[in-house]
Amino acid sequence: MATYPHLLAPLDLGFTTLPNRVLMGSMHVGLEEERGKFPKLAAYFAARARGGVGLIVTGGVSPNRAGQLKPFAATLSTSREAARHKNVTDAVHAEGGRIALQILHAGRYAYHPFSVAPTRVKSPITPFSPWGLTGRGVSGTIDDFVRCAVLAREAGYDGVEVMGSEGYLINEFIVNHTNKRTDEWGGAYENRIRFPVEIVRRIREAVGKDFIVIYRLSMLDLVPTGSTWDEVVQLAQAIQAAGATMLNTGIGWHEARVPTIATLVPRAAFTWVTRRLKESGKITIPLVTSNRINTPEVAEEVLAGGAADMVSMARPLLADPDFVNKARAGRSADINTCIACNQACLDHVFQNKRASCLVNPQACFETELVYTAPPRRLKVAVVGAGPAGLSCATVAAERGHAVTLFEADTAIGGQFNMARKIPGKEEFSETLRYFTGRLAQTGVEQRLGARVGAADLSGYDAVVLATGVNPRRVSFPGSDHPKVLSYVDVLSRGASVGARVAIIGAGGIGFDVAEFLTEPAQRGEAHPDVAAFLAEWGVDYAGWGRASTGRGGLAPAAVPNGGRQIYLLQRSPRKHGEKLGKTTGWIHRASLKQRGVEMIGGVTYDRVDDAGLHITVNGERSVLEVDHVVICAGQVSNDALAAPLRAAGRTVHVIGGAEEAGELDAKRAIAQGARVAAGL
Ligand code: FAD
Ligand code: NAP
Ligand code: SF4
Repeated sequence: MATYPHLLAPLDLGFTTLPNRVLMGSMHVGLEEERGKFPKLAAYFAARARGGVGLIVTGGVSPNRAGQLKPFAATLSTSREAARHKNVTDAVHAEGGRIALQILHAGRYAYHPFSVAPTRVKSPITPFSPWGLTGRGVSGTIDDFVRCAVLAREAGYDGVEVMGSEGYLINEFIVNHTNKRTDEWGGAYENRIRFPVEIVRRIREAVGKDFIVIYRLSMLDLVPTGSTWDEVVQLAQAIQAAGATMLNTGIGWHEARVPTIATLVPRAAFTWVTRRLKESGKITIPLVTSNRINTPEVAEEVLAGGAADMVSMARPLLADPDFVNKARAGRSADINTCIACNQACLDHVFQNKRASCLVNPQACFETELVYTAPPRRLKVAVVGAGPAGLSCATVAAERGHAVTLFEADTAIGGQFNMARKIPGKEEFSETLRYFTGRLAQTGVEQRLGARVGAADLSGYDAVVLATGVNPRRVSFPGSDHPKVLSYVDVLSRGASVGARVAIIGAGGIGFDVAEFLTEPAQRGEAHPDVAAFLAEWGVDYAGWGRASTGRGGLAPAAVPNGGRQIYLLQRSPRKHGEKLGKTTGWIHRASLKQRGVEMIGGVTYDRVDDAGLHITVNGERSVLEVDHVVICAGQVSNDALAAPLRAAGRTVHVIGGAEEAGELDAKRAIAQGARVAAGL
């Protein structure tokens, strides 16, 4: 309590008191649509309630069929459905937690042909044109929101959150561009906000005074036609008057071209928006702030600085369900920190797969990936302390095995030691901090600086090879020229790199090296500067909320100049970065384009000489007059120990990059390490 006095202070809502200021933000995790979902959802939410979260908000549930995000998505419109939700609410209450149901009508973002919107205006991110709602349709939709809230109460929820941001239906009513109606629901701003205000007013009327009603308000639309700051304040006041218990912060429509939660977004980069609403003095109900708050220290600072009354954290509670209890116990260093990669959570949901977490493969698999005591204590050797080896060693030791971890380097981490040097990937250091603690707590014997051979591994009941990868060598005339470097030279060995650079290979590492080489020095710090980030992405940080002229919180972008000319090359003629993350690939492409990186596809590498890199594209030869050529041409497995060990009749498990280098990422490495360890 003494450590985080603001974060752990109770919040009195009048009719009930929340035990602390942590709200678990709404996340769709894909369990919602699975067969037999309720026991899995119950276990998932119960773990977060047990971990001490003050108030949980569920993933979005539609009030009717038109509002479903996709066909058969979660809907709450009958008492029969409400009865099933009792699985979840009972499990959370049994752990002493509180839970609110988020009511989300997808509007024109719905991925089906029956979507509706204030007006028939197609979104740039879905293939379907919505049907414009009739006047009766609007009233009927409000009735459906109210019915959903009443059913949520019947199902035992402690409240509801009305999703009014991110560009979904309610947001679409508020903004001119998506609302061209001429009736009482369109035209003047007072008319456009009638829809959310009526929803909140009618819900409050129907559920009574002692039920939490949160309204998620789009405080920064980040689209050119978005609300002005004065309009945001006006809406907040109207929603307060309509009976909301709290206002939560929404940042950016889904179609916005500004990153809002990816790992390159600095921590707490948008809390200034909530602060400005608070400082307006016009809102007296509690305000919840959000986006990239991932440690108790940051959360405490935000609250202590007066930006808000509560913080919303979503992904950090996937990464560590015990976040709050660890903070309360003064064990913040033991928290498994969300690195904001989106790789196992949002990317999965966008691919219609169940979400999990890159750093916590048990997330959303609470009933399936269970670490039990083994029938017999084994002596286990794990070779390689990259993500796969770290995950395997700590889970095996946690289960009770005697584990020795061998690592050739003098530090743990494997390739994460390069990843964390990339600007915007500083968070990867947190995973290494977490594993450092876990190794000690689980009693793993560590042998660092020990490159082992097969002969060193006798006397173990099981050997796990997590020896990772080697960079793929490429061979063409001049590939041994002094101009030619590998990404390891640049990221690990501190090779000095000239002003003109060609990068061979445009996979994840090629993109990262381009980002590294174009980054001005100021962003090499541990935690990038919020103002510099917002300036680069065109967010009106200085003016928004002070001058009321701008719309959507946008400003002209001020792109930093890294002082280098970079060519990012690939042999394939396809779009650069096609295989990057579903929800983050566009950010990497946009960032490099803004920095003037020239992306060339369909390249044949002819030779390197003193003049530079000679290439052929579409039959035309040219020379890129560069100082250096950096090879980022993929990786090959380093599994050299497997064959001799197997030949000697040893039990060998090969995991991570050592097993398969293609399509390798840390998500697979960590999950595989945990699953193999769970089975030992
Ligand atoms: P490695 O991390 O390669 O670890 C293998 C370890 O084994 C090494 O430490 C090595 O020293 C040790 N070793 C090898 N042989 C021996 C031996 N004989 N004895 C003892 N020790 C040995 N992935 C993502 O998911 N998201 C990202 O954003 C991302 N960004 C990246 C950025 C960069 C710049 C790089 C280089 C990688 C990035 N990756 C990312 C990839 C990710 O780091 C790898 O997928 C992951 O590290 C693979 O884990 P691993 O444990 O299989 O192997
Ligand atoms: P990669 O994604 O497989 O990309 C390799 C690149 O090299 C491709 O652009 C490929 O394109 C080119 N290439 C392959 N063989 C070549 C050859 N013989 N000669 C010249 N070019 C060649 O591999 P990576 O960039 O090394 O990344 C390794 C792993 O780390 C990846 O699997 C990735 O998932 C992971 N990673 C992930 C992230 C992330 O943000 N999620 C970031 C970094 C790394 P062409 O064949 O078209 O030339
Ligand atoms: Fe955070 Fe990445 Fe885990 Fe998602 S997958 S919760 S972004 S660490």
